[in-house]
Amino acid sequence: MINKVRKLGEYILDNEGDKNPYDLNTSLESANAILYDFSLAKGRSEFIGINTMQFDLSKNDQLLLKNAPGQKKSDFPTYFIGFNRDESQLKSNIQKSLNKLLITLENNEKINHDLGPFVQSFKKEFEALKERTVEKIDQEKSNICSIRINDKLPGKSEYYQPILDSYRENRDCGFYQKYGSIALGKNNACYVCGRISERTYGFCDTFKFYSSNEAAYISGGFSKELSWKNYPVCPECALHLRLGKEFISNHFDRNFYGNRYFLIPSPMLDTGNFYKMLEVIKEDFRDLSFRQENESNQQLRKEMEEEIFETLSKQKDQATFTFFFYEASQSEFKIIQEAEDILPSRFQKLINAKKHVENFDEFKELKGLYKKNEYHNLLFNFGVVRTFFTSNFNNDFLDITSKMLKGRPISKQFVLHRISDMLSQKFRKQELLYEVRKAFILIKYLYALDLIKNEKARREDEMKNKYEEYFLMHPEFYDADWKKAVFLTGVLAQNVMDIQWQDRGATPFRSRLNGLKIDHRVVKRLLPEAINKLEQYKKNYYRDLEEAISKLMESSGLDLQIQSVDEISFYFALGINLNKQFKSKEKEEGEIHE
Ligand SMILES: [Zn+2]
Repeated sequence: MINKVRKLGEYILDNEGDKNPYDLNTSLESANAILYDFSLAKGRSEFIGINTMQFDLSKNDQLLLKNAPGQKKSDFPTYFIGFNRDESQLKSNIQKSLNKLLITLENNEKINHDLGPFVQSFKKEFEALKERTVEKIDQEKSNICSIRINDKLPGKSEYYQPILDSYRENRDCGFYQKYGSIALGKNNACYVCGRISERTYGFCDTFKFYSSNEAAYISGGFSKELSWKNYPVCPECALHLRLGKEFISNHFDRNFYGNRYFLIPSPMLDTGNFYKMLEVIKEDFRDLSFRQENESNQQLRKEMEEEIFETLSKQKDQATFTFFFYEASQSEFKIIQEAEDILPSRFQKLINAKKHVENFDEFKELKGLYKKNEYHNLLFNFGVVRTFFTSNFNNDFLDITSKMLKGRPISKQFVLHRISDMLSQKFRKQELLYEVRKAFILIKYLYALDLIKNEKARREDEMKNKYEEYFLMHPEFYDADWKKAVFLTGVLAQNVMDIQWQDRGATPFRSRLNGLKIDHRVVKRLLPEAINKLEQYKKNYYRDLEEAISKLMESSGLDLQIQSVDEISFYFALGINLNKQFKSKEKEEGEIHE
């Protein structure tokens, strides 16, 4: 991954250059610049006077104005002065700015000692400067203040060259004494490009997560103080990394169901026109802002997810994409999950699978699915996965997401376990609604992508019943008799409850369903229990169904006994949820009350 970022940075540098190497303010168009003029030569410095000049953006490489709100200090001696009509307020603002300016000068002196006499001289004049600044303020404009030495603004002054150099160096690589030792190495091999470099930095600041935390990610525990030795980075790579990371942060930093990820495009071959392509991809993505505020808008979020896949699928396999899920706090950057080198054709597959599964009648015209009393079709997206892998299971959610993206096999039992847990929870709270359909579409999608597989089923005897037609619609689901048997038992159980609801306005049979945690014993006892109830109500309209179940049970033999509770429960829940499909209308009109 680090190499992909570096490579991007290299393309950016070659094509755009390092646009704003000092992170200067790029939005202030014009201002009144108040300049404190000093002379400095041969260890002597004198105050000359206060002057003003017109600032415009083109002059900022000389003035070096940065944004430094609140307590923040700029690395360069230029600051805004907030205007206020009230004179005492204005004076207080000037005081604040000049205090900051003084601190910057003292910091500058630490880098270039030759500034010493000038800083002394500035301090001597400090009170007078404050007073005299008031009259230089322009009420009509923004005001900034700066210094000038020997008639040269900081950006042009030889006294500031070492400060500018140091800034660039620090910016690419914060080899700060963060952990009590200067992480600057000599003649180390660069971790990124492998070349021996005269100087190397450890703890690349723009990429500190890589050197400090990725280490932990790789080896599962790493002393931070030592990591620079293990991950030295040469200045050239450091610059590439920074530019690459800036580019990604600006254009390809996205939200995904409460997570953040970088989408990193990489060229398939070094054809030389990747930069052009990058521009195109960047443009395509501009509209798909996927911003935090949009995250809360479910509909928008899902549409954008679709659009992102559509957009990526159009890149004609000249680029690959890496999804890099991360967690960032102020001090740490954690890599949670990575799906590397996904081809555009893979996204096309994902889209095709989505279209395929959404086409089934079971997912159409569902009342109250997305909005109360409205009918919608159930769509497949990662929100469906999220239904079962909630934030408590975020790592699993991202794991499954990246396996889907990469096309790696997924453990069916694992997914079914989460599903059956969720279904059971909802069932116990009487809140089970469309979760079963969502589980259904999810599993169907995983089958469609060939990410889960069935164990080889025994050869089944051909069976003739009116349910076969349905089973043949979803052959991947019903490749074994025990699955059909459990499913149909679910159908029968719901039929019983529908009748109870009609007759008595209550569904006591629910309590026989073991909170929807169904094992082979439960499923077997449910058949006679259901029949009993129906006979008791004299409403046993389901003799065909009962007979089909008992035949299927018989032919599944010992198969059912070795199945997991999760899988049995899932098939049972499907039956409960889809029972309506098998009712012949003239018999009775039960409602689903789940
Ligand atoms: Zn290098």
